Amino acid sequence: MHQQTAKTLVATQVCSLCKTEVEGALSSHFKVAHTVKSFEKAILSDVDKGAPDVEIGRKYGITFRYLEKLITRAKGVNVGFVKHKKVKTLEPNIDNLLSDNEISIIKYNLGEQIDSNLVKGKNIFCTEKYVEGVTKATDNKLKKFDLIIFKNFYTNYLFEINFYSTEGTKIGINQNEYIALHNNIKQNFKGSKFHWITDGNYWLTSQGEKRFLNLLNYFGTIYNINFFMENINNFK
Ligand SMILES: [Zn+2]
Repeated sequence: MHQQTAKTLVATQVCSLCKTEVEGALSSHFKVAHTVKSFEKAILSDVDKGAPDVEIGRKYGITFRYLEKLITRAKGVNVGFVKHKKVKTLEPNIDNLLSDNEISIIKYNLGEQIDSNLVKGKNIFCTEKYVEGVTKATDNKLKKFDLIIFKNFYTNYLFEINFYSTEGTKIGINQNEYIALHNNIKQNFKGSKFHWITDGNYWLTSQGEKRFLNLLNYFGTIYNINFFMENINNFK
């Protein structure tokens, strides 16, 4: 106990790779002893374990901006956004619980898959998972959702999250997929609802605005990041 306190005071870190005790942040140690790649891998592994930003920043000697960029580069902007930053008011994220139980396909009632006492009464969510039976119209394969928010263990809200900086072919493809998905879920999965969260400068262009207004006919509501965050209590 005493030793622990002393360690904290001089801010000693143990390198996860070579187990060397390092004084101060790990960034300089990694620079000398390891590769940049292994440095990033160590950081991302702590992110996956759910370590708080502040702690990671201090441990590795990196800024929040660096951390954010790293996560985005490694995991894509969608996951970076969800995992890391904005959805924290919905805690807890049960990704670790799911991976411990080797669950990547969620049943409509998650209570059949995990011990419901573990997360009873909590606003649980997970990222990058499939939902049993929910497939894409394009290839009939299961759809991986960027974010799933549960209500009493049911997969109530299914989200796709994308960013568009310019108009490309991708948006047309995505748009058609999501319209089909939205209709499929509406017709066949009564307890669940699909939502599209999308953001980026593209939507501010005149083309983007036109497309957005048209899409409202299909989706009713489309969220951008801020609008989603303002309304997050509606998803609890
Ligand atoms: Zn080391």
